[in-house]
Amino acid sequence: MKKHLITGGAGFIGSHLARRLLDQGDEVTVMDNLFTGNKSNIYGLMENPRFTFILHDVTQPFWGQFDEIYNLACPASPIHYQRNPVETIKASFVGMLNVLELALKTKARVLHTSTSEIYGDPLVHPQPETYWGNINTIGIRSCYDEGKRAAETLCVDYCREYNVDVRLVRIFNTYGPNMHPQDGRVVSNFIMQALQGHDITIYGSGQQTRSFQYVDDLIEAVTRLMQLERYPLAEACRRHGFDIPVVNVGNPNEFTIRELAETVLALLPESNSKIVYRALPMDDPQRRKPDITLAGELCDWAPAVPLAEGLKHAIAYFRTRLPGACA
Ligand code: NAD
Ligand code: UDP
Repeated sequence: MKKHLITGGAGFIGSHLARRLLDQGDEVTVMDNLFTGNKSNIYGLMENPRFTFILHDVTQPFWGQFDEIYNLACPASPIHYQRNPVETIKASFVGMLNVLELALKTKARVLHTSTSEIYGDPLVHPQPETYWGNINTIGIRSCYDEGKRAAETLCVDYCREYNVDVRLVRIFNTYGPNMHPQDGRVVSNFIMQALQGHDITIYGSGQQTRSFQYVDDLIEAVTRLMQLERYPLAEACRRHGFDIPVVNVGNPNEFTIRELAETVLALLPESNSKIVYRALPMDDPQRRKPDITLAGELCDWAPAVPLAEGLKHAIAYFRTRLPGACA
């Protein structure tokens, strides 16, 4: 039985990961300061004797003996990470430093959840792991983008200099149950708006694209990547030009934001919501689509859940989060 630490484990992705690791018979400790996470995501896990919750900020040092550390602690939605930008960049960088120091002292393996945001507004499409990105260092998204880029650098330097076993996963837009209803990201916004008959708010022209991944597909890839033996993994990555494992995980089916709005409305024909257009936020990337060749080769993985099917599961969940609904 393995012991896992999940920082940020009371959030959307972390709560799915915790359930998955418990289901396979392991011990799971979730550490979270509940900045954007919610205890309701992990209530169902609390009675499991193999589950522990620690209320703690990842920017403060911590101690514990774990086999594997999944580092997720960081607000991920633009409206939330921009609400407190200094805390955001600290969560990424100082939090990463604390995780790596613990891993160094205890010989734990680390999987860090990086992001497609490190590619910024990409000039290469689709984005392979070898692309260095196109980022504004002083924009409103920089606290997140640059924090995540610096965290990647810290990971590779702890690996090269101190031999810590690290793997970096660059996650592309992921959605599903346990997202906060006021999370502010596009899938949760559109579904909550459509369910309540509110205007569907498209920012900009709606011609910008994203590639949406259902959370179960992500959890499958992340857990497989964590289990890969270190040296065959390093060798496989070297063939792709890296000495450290860095892997895109996302669904390469690309949609415009307008298409997403229309798909949500088609799944909710009873909705009387109308599409409205609002200003495009600064530095909003125009296109995004992962090249997932490496993930496929490393762990025989490909996303299995089409957008319309994943949205149905998400809609069923968000119905339970409507004001007045019984969860
Ligand atoms: P989320 O906001 O639901 O989860 C983040 C969790 O981290 C929350 O529970 C929050 O309370 C916790 N947290 C934030 N700051 C913390 C701190 N200082 N100390 C301890 N806990 C802290 O978002 P999510 O979508 O579940 O994202 C999880 C991770 O995956 C994040 O690191 C995010 O950057 C990364 N990611 C997510 C996506 C996506 O599309 N969902 C895409 C790319 C990367
Ligand atoms: N978006 C939108 N309406 C919303 C929320 C977001 O049109 O209510 C757009 C946003 O401008 C961006 C895309 O949807 O172009 C994805 O936004 P999200 O915040 O989900 O993720 P990110 O921009 O970080 O990929």
